Amino acid sequence: MYSKFPHTEAIFILIEAANGFYTKNWMPGTSGNLSIRTSGANEPLNFVITASGKDKGALTPSDFVIVGVDGAPIEDTEHKSSAETLLHAAVYQKIKEARAVYHVHTVQAALLSNYGLTDGESIRFRGLEMLKGLGLDTHDTEVELPVLENSQDMLTLSQQLPHRIHRKVPGFLLKGHGLYTWGASPFHAKRHIEIWQYLFEYRLGELMLQGVPSSPALHSVGS
Ligand SMILES: [Zn+2]
Repeated sequence: MYSKFPHTEAIFILIEAANGFYTKNWMPGTSGNLSIRTSGANEPLNFVITASGKDKGALTPSDFVIVGVDGAPIEDTEHKSSAETLLHAAVYQKIKEARAVYHVHTVQAALLSNYGLTDGESIRFRGLEMLKGLGLDTHDTEVELPVLENSQDMLTLSQQLPHRIHRKVPGFLLKGHGLYTWGASPFHAKRHIEIWQYLFEYRLGELMLQGVPSSPALHSVGS
């Protein structure tokens, strides 16, 4: 099991991750939030998370709060933690090995989650090599990413969440809102963001090609 994660190291990692996601337009307009669990495995939950309303392309070490299981800061601070902090806490409580929880607002996540899905449904992916990046042994495994109705009532949402997420599929979508994922380390959480985003872009491309006849150029066998 894991030990404590130093706050300063966590903040450094989160600044770098947010900057990378911001550059890709995955955290525009101060959106999204990233956290790392800093308490050890057998200690009460606490984690460091981006403060509410900060430009994710220009975070500084003072733009973070350390919060406990109820999402409230455990130290005096002028910053507010985001309302979505409760969802991070819910993930850490349900998925014991989660060390980092990353949440981004990508166009593709919002588009796909609104594409004819209702609350309680999932988006299914299979047959893609990149699925292995989610920790699967083979591309030939089916993954179902849960989709939940978006809400401003984060308390209720955080209570529903444990019934919809599982250890084997690191993520969920909030409809018209964005993607949450996690990992056993910040490295894994970042990788999962990138893999999901690849899968979303692939699926959107697939939907755009529906009904388009296959081009003869794709079938060329050479001369
Ligand atoms: Zn959000």
